[in-house]
Amino acid sequence: MIESRELPKCPVCQARFRESSNCPRCGADLRPLMTLIARAYGLRLDANRALQANDFERACKLACQAQALCSTPKGEDLRLLSSWLLVDKSLELQHLLGDEAKPA
Ligand SMILES: [Zn+2]
Repeated sequence: MIESRELPKCPVCQARFRESSNCPRCGADLRPLMTLIARAYGLRLDANRALQANDFERACKLACQAQALCSTPKGEDLRLLSSWLLVDKSLELQHLLGDEAKPA
């Protein structure tokens, strides 16, 4: 379910819109914006799949790309989660490698 804060806004008049190719308030052509939103959505789906596959580096990259295309609050949550998991994994690896590097 899409929350109202997640609905995109017309870049001209800031009216929220859903599934219309022209702004219901000012009539601006929203198709280029809708294309970006759809691409960002696809990137977030791929990021979710990467998270489920424990590929945090890929998830983080895809979530960042999605946010750069079209930023949303939930997209930011996904970006933060994937970057946190990526850092956590790299710290875990550093810890493991650090233990191996120590003399017995
Ligand atoms: Zn508008």
